[in-house]
Amino acid sequence: MWAASQKNVVGKGNDVKREQCFIAGNWVSNGEWVSVDNPATGAIIGRIPSLGRPETRKAIEASAQAMQDWAARPANARAVILQRIASLMEQRSDALAALLTEEQGKPLAEARGEIAYAASFFQWFGEEAKRAYGEVIPGHMADKRLFVLKQPVGVVAAITPWNFPAAMITRKLAPALAAGCGMVLKPSELTPFTALAIAGIADEAGVPKGLFNVVTGDAAEIGAEFLENPAVRKISFTGSTAVGRLLMQGAASSIKKLSLELGGNAPFIVFDDADLDAAVEGAIQSKYRNAGQTCVCANRFYIQSGIYDAFVEKMAAAVSRLRVGNGADPGTDIGPLIDERAVAKVKRHIDDAAGKGARIVLGGTGAPQGPRFFTPTLLRDVKPGMDVLREETFGPLAPLVKFDADADAIAMANDSEFGLAAYFYARDINRIWRAAEGIESGIIGINTGLISTEVAPFGGVKQSGIGREGSRHGLDEYLELKYLCLSVA
Ligand code: NAD
Repeated sequence: MWAASQKNVVGKGNDVKREQCFIAGNWVSNGEWVSVDNPATGAIIGRIPSLGRPETRKAIEASAQAMQDWAARPANARAVILQRIASLMEQRSDALAALLTEEQGKPLAEARGEIAYAASFFQWFGEEAKRAYGEVIPGHMADKRLFVLKQPVGVVAAITPWNFPAAMITRKLAPALAAGCGMVLKPSELTPFTALAIAGIADEAGVPKGLFNVVTGDAAEIGAEFLENPAVRKISFTGSTAVGRLLMQGAASSIKKLSLELGGNAPFIVFDDADLDAAVEGAIQSKYRNAGQTCVCANRFYIQSGIYDAFVEKMAAAVSRLRVGNGADPGTDIGPLIDERAVAKVKRHIDDAAGKGARIVLGGTGAPQGPRFFTPTLLRDVKPGMDVLREETFGPLAPLVKFDADADAIAMANDSEFGLAAYFYARDINRIWRAAEGIESGIIGINTGLISTEVAPFGGVKQSGIGREGSRHGLDEYLELKYLCLSVA
């Protein structure tokens, strides 16, 4: 444990913390444990069971069994339970947020925001379940009547990352339950307690025993059971592109359905007619939220030459006001990174860029609070060919590139294997449409740095993934189409 602030949020978080897995409606462990720490202090905050294939198999069987009754219930009956989960999450928001900050590190205000966002998926998909409309298609022959039904895909195996320990789960769980599916979840071993707390709340809200299970332990073993078990009909993954690729290969042998929410490398373009103050505000929100550990974080900034120096100056003033600290301390803007590997990656990007001619305007070093803290950093004179423009940094580092022509900015924005989120600031309506249509990205923020909401489709193009979460499209990911062709005498 090191010397960051020791603000005690443990009491509240402990109200909802559970140190066992939830399988077939029971809280279980096997005597083997993995410790979980607080990234701000290094203190061990608890332990979770290290389970493997047999327990995962049991969870899948329980889910398949429970799904039979669940899928047969009318959508409005399922909706009542989903809405109850949302209400319980809202009521326990303080405790859930404290737990989330303790295991993940983000500032408490952001953790509260994430809990509200996470709960919103249960509200939305509870309602949306009632609108999983089929179709009546005009027959192609006089004696034929054609219909399309939507039915649940089956048991879903979900794997989630550490950066949003609540919302990345509920964005999958809510539509799966709404559609009539069961689920077995493997959360990140770095942030399992929020997942287990959500399992407790789902149980309390009346989700049938066995329908939703949480298994922690060896990722590769649990993942292998997910991929090979025939009762699993869909894999829903959020995480890195490297692991997504492995799962896609593994799913090929039994042709499982797949949703992949993978890495990003979001460009943030500021055209010369933009409102500069608004652009700086959006840049700060998009870049430094969650200490830069967001898949839709602005990762690289392209600023038009006529306003470049003014933007650098305003951005530097805003970045210099950000306070680094333990997320549990009021007033903290930038918490710790998840681990020391994450800190090393930020440092590597800075060293590579500085070695190739970029200049450090602010930051550039670790922070005194501890080995996982990094000072918010601004780099200018960044040029194509630097690693920071090609790789997702996942830390509080903003590299600023200068461009002349609009087309150059769009070409540079598209020069990436990723295509999750993009942002730009401009006023001219023709320019706005050209950029919106020209940028290859699943999501575009125009004159805003905040884009996430449960009512809109979230997901990427290129190597950022397959499928969408949230919105009515998020429900379709958990439904199969069944075409009925009826011959009428
Ligand atoms: P990660 O890929 O390392 O891990 C994600 C999950 O996969 C974890 O639960 C991990 O235990 C599990 N995992 C690892 N190896 C596995 C294996 N062989 N089989 C089965 N499961 C395995 O990613 P991370 O570091 O936890 O998260 C950060 C990444 O997630 C970033 O790239 C970020 O952009 C991405 N992300 C994407 C979105 C999105 O919506 N597109 C949202 C959040 C995070």
